[in-house]
Amino acid sequence: MSEPPRIAIVGAGAGGLSATVALAARGYDVTVFEAAPEPGGKIGTASVDGTTFDTGPSLLTLPSVLEQLLASTPVSLDEAFEWVHPDPAFRYLYPDGTTFETYGELERTLQSARHTFGDAAADDLESFLEYTQSIWEAAAPHFIFDHAPTLGSMAGLGFQAFGALRDIDPMNTMWSAIESRVDHPKLRDVLARFATYTGSDPREAPATLHCIAWVELGLGARGVEGGMFEIARTLTSIARQMGADFQFETPVRSLEVERGHIRSVETDEGRHPCDAVVANTELDYLDDDLLASQQATGPDRTLERSMSGWNALIRARRRPEQQRPAHTALFPENYQEEFRDIFDRRRPPHDPTVYLCAQEKAHRRDGWEATEPLFVMANAPPVEADELRRPEPWHELRERVMARLRSADLIASDDEIVWERTPLDLAERFPGSRGAIYGAASNSKWAAFQRPANRVDEVEGLYLASGSVHPGGGVPLCLQSGRLAAEAIEEDHSR
Ligand SMILES: Cc1cc2nc3c(=O)[nH]c(=O)nc-3n(C[C@H](O)[C@H](O)[C@H](O)COP(=O)(O)OP(=O)(O)OC[C@H]3O[C@@H](n4cnc5c(N)ncnc54)[C@H](O)[C@@H]3O)c2cc1C
Repeated sequence: MSEPPRIAIVGAGAGGLSATVALAARGYDVTVFEAAPEPGGKIGTASVDGTTFDTGPSLLTLPSVLEQLLASTPVSLDEAFEWVHPDPAFRYLYPDGTTFETYGELERTLQSARHTFGDAAADDLESFLEYTQSIWEAAAPHFIFDHAPTLGSMAGLGFQAFGALRDIDPMNTMWSAIESRVDHPKLRDVLARFATYTGSDPREAPATLHCIAWVELGLGARGVEGGMFEIARTLTSIARQMGADFQFETPVRSLEVERGHIRSVETDEGRHPCDAVVANTELDYLDDDLLASQQATGPDRTLERSMSGWNALIRARRRPEQQRPAHTALFPENYQEEFRDIFDRRRPPHDPTVYLCAQEKAHRRDGWEATEPLFVMANAPPVEADELRRPEPWHELRERVMARLRSADLIASDDEIVWERTPLDLAERFPGSRGAIYGAASNSKWAAFQRPANRVDEVEGLYLASGSVHPGGGVPLCLQSGRLAAEAIEEDHSR
């Protein structure tokens, strides 16, 4: 019997882990090289005074992607994870004291809209969500779960493609679709905020991205018992059970390409021959660093970067769930200004929307004895302008965020930041990202066709799986990106 092909995975983020699980389950000889001491990438953790908390994602959507990934392994989704369904699911707060809550069941969310904004607004929300559902149903099979579409591949689908292209509404922007369908300004803000789940600008992003509202409000988001890091920990452990080897604190320095074919990965320990590589890295870094010494380039990468974020962890005196639920978003007076600041003026928002995740409630993660960990996020531009390479703009943003949280009485005057990460830190931790969290921004009506393919045509044996290959989708779509890379490897090796 011939030896199974040797696959090197560069990076143990969501995309790398997913490719590892999928390939190990198919019997490939998989080695994962990860620069950090633990898996997860952006699904990270940090610890302060004996308490560990998540530093990345707070909400998991589309668990079906994890379920499909685990279907070929000895562990089922239900055995692997326990879910947390906070109630309410999310609270939105406005500067005038208005409070709007969403729930795990759509009917309750609509009742809540009726209660907060009135009958007309609730009716608008209901029909808007029907519209988002039809976008989702048209977009999911071709643009979200499948290999990167091209105009050619869509033309091959004929009539069916024509229907899908009409239903995903790419010619409208998110904002114009909201304006024409929803009157209440506060509800408009809630719907526009879903653009930020992909780090995009609702004034430019195609209305197609409204499918995110359906994913969260219609299909539902959840927490993971013990924290989001459980996803990375569990996938690593399942991959190991199936024979995958993990080498942590082992950055790959370069990829060796010979006559257009991948030959090995180079680490400080030496050369590791392989038949294929899955790069779970940023595309810029792949081209500028990993392939720099080779006469090879990766895919085209001229797209605008998605937003970054300023993050902190506040150690706060514990409060009951009614006062401070699992997830809170605190809107500014003028939400549109935030996008002007980030995308037009390229500066941290002057009056930021502040997101707060109470991790004990969102993920049943233990805090300290009398205080709980609150994860905070404010959207920010990626680190491209020189001005943003200095610490001052981030210190000012920190002060504005803390002032907003205190004035809304979400934290007490002596609750303090115990951990902080600026876009500069993100840029350093994830080389080539400039701090962008979700890969490329989807600020173009052609975004669906600009996604790079998982198979790199220019270098045989090189495959891609990450948020910069499957932009904007967060954890589930990075997992899907890894599955698609594994599928492409399988296809090429079974020829
Ligand atoms: C603050 C924050 C909040 C978020 N909120 C959400 C949310 O609520 N829901 C959601 O779904 N998503 C959310 N996301 C996005 C989500 O976390 C990411 O989309 C996803 O985790 C990215 O996965 P990835 O496959 O791109 O890999 P990454 O996370 O980018 O990991 C890549 C890995 O590769 C390693 N690596 C890179 N180069 C090398 C090398 N040369 N050698 C060895 N190793 C290397 C890195 O160390 C890293 O571990 C959030 C992200 C952040 C930061």
